[in-house]
Amino acid sequence: MPIKILSNYSDKNKKLTKSGHGIVQWRAGSNQEEIKASCKGANCLFLKGGAFMNPVTGKTILRKKIVTMPGTSTSDPTYHDKEGNQVMKVDSCFAIMGTPYLSSYRMQDDPRMKGIEGLKRAIENAPRKADRARGAVVGNASTIMTKEELEEVDSTIRRSLKHHILYDHAWRINPWVLDHAVASCNHIADIKKAISMGASVCSVVLPQNIIDQYRGKRIDGFHMTQCPENVSPKINCINCGGKSGPLCDAKTRSNLVIMFQQHGNNSWKRQKQKIIGNISKAATPDEPTTGDKARDKRRRKIGVSMTLEKLQEAIKRGDKQTVLTIAEKAMRKVSKATAKKYQRFLEVTCEQ
Ligand code: SF4
Repeated sequence: MPIKILSNYSDKNKKLTKSGHGIVQWRAGSNQEEIKASCKGANCLFLKGGAFMNPVTGKTILRKKIVTMPGTSTSDPTYHDKEGNQVMKVDSCFAIMGTPYLSSYRMQDDPRMKGIEGLKRAIENAPRKADRARGAVVGNASTIMTKEELEEVDSTIRRSLKHHILYDHAWRINPWVLDHAVASCNHIADIKKAISMGASVCSVVLPQNIIDQYRGKRIDGFHMTQCPENVSPKINCINCGGKSGPLCDAKTRSNLVIMFQQHGNNSWKRQKQKIIGNISKAATPDEPTTGDKARDKRRRKIGVSMTLEKLQEAIKRGDKQTVLTIAEKAMRKVSKATAKKYQRFLEVTCEQ
């Protein structure tokens, strides 16, 4: 029975690669059905997301018991339980809901990408300078393959490449996976548990304001740090860690907790980008038509992206006057309720 993986060498994934530097990657599952089953088998919290959870204890809290402070362009939303403890809204997985899963559809009918031979082919296709692979770009390894199969995958990679980045959500049920994978934890108490079960590196997804509270601290001797990709546009998995290699290689790194800013469909980061995009669209005046539909569309797109750039820059610099000017233009195009929402978000008051 072939090992249930789909592999390729790609420079298309912006989170994992830089132009001219691709990465060998494999998916846990040889088709979409198996990929989804592997996530379900791991009882992954991020498969659905949306629940409210205490980030320290992992206790879930009913939505009706949550006090919400809405987010703005400069601050994240905060959620508290009735006792005043900060809680978080659980993110949803961007991989199973996005391109890594969707692109498996194209790959699943290609026998050249399947099993250990497919992985070897992906490694052969990588240039000589390639030094790392990313496992389970979507799907969960330990719930789709045996310990022996994962050992074979890992040793095949390490025979040619120095590093193998891999996370697993089912380390509680399959602790053997911790020999190869970072323990994907749901909350702080989970981290302690993973360490006690033998994890060398743990990861956890948190809102930025909670990451800020924990950065630089230690949990049972493990140093807590934020994924460098979150804080620098120049770093991602392809060059993370410099010569020492990526922080998320569980075999070559140890005593680390990598904190990731929420980035899934439920995250404030994505919601914020969407609101800023909508404001920019509303604030961009329509140009007189040229009679050429495609040309009009192109001009409109350029206009909106220029407004977007200006607004993002103004928010970043704290330039209230520019934010207000853009806001006032947008307010003229939207309903009263939306105008109120945008003003609250941009923290400005416009003349009506
Ligand atoms: S810490 Fe490094 S290896 Fe891990 S996800 Fe972030 S960029 Fe990639």
